[in-house]
Amino acid sequence: MSPRASTTAKRAQRATPNRITADPPNTKAGTVASWATSPATRRAMQANRRRDTAPEMAIRRLVHASGLRYRVDARPLPTARHTADMIFTRARVAVFIDGCWWHGCAEHYRPPASNAGYWAAKVARNRERDRLADEALVAAGWAVIRVWEHELPESAARRIEAAVRAARHRQRPGQRPVPGSCRNDQSRCSPPARGR
Ligand SMILES: [Zn+2]
Repeated sequence: MSPRASTTAKRAQRATPNRITADPPNTKAGTVASWATSPATRRAMQANRRRDTAPEMAIRRLVHASGLRYRVDARPLPTARHTADMIFTRARVAVFIDGCWWHGCAEHYRPPASNAGYWAAKVARNRERDRLADEALVAAGWAVIRVWEHELPESAARRIEAAVRAARHRQRPGQRPVPGSCRNDQSRCSPPARGR
């Protein structure tokens, strides 16, 4: 497993349409191999890389409205290549918003009819990468929140907020967390775009 592959997979994931689907995104039967292996196609996908999917934006807006500040699409550990969708640097909380297809959600992932073995292996590799990333982050003292793209944004935002406040509380046990009062990391704020 190479870090490069991890980055490519992440970019490919972000390039997918924001919908929950039982089919591999952006593929047609018979084009799977070239889609996955052609450098030209990969470059095109990277150029068209899609950030800020609707679930991500909804979650970011809710968390931002709660007063928490975070960095978007950032590496929690400078020495590792894992890129999280949101990080809370001081609280050391990393959030990954996982696509149901690419990360093998039990509710929505269905192996495709064609090239089933190829795709099953690919999703298995993604899941293994996720697991290793989680382990590395936890070992470095981070809390990891994984959100499925099918999860309600409100529910995801509540989980994230609870994790961040709990982490800050652990780091400063003398202080009681007051909802809405955390203003740490404001200089790193990435306000969500409006009207999307
Ligand atoms: Zn799902």
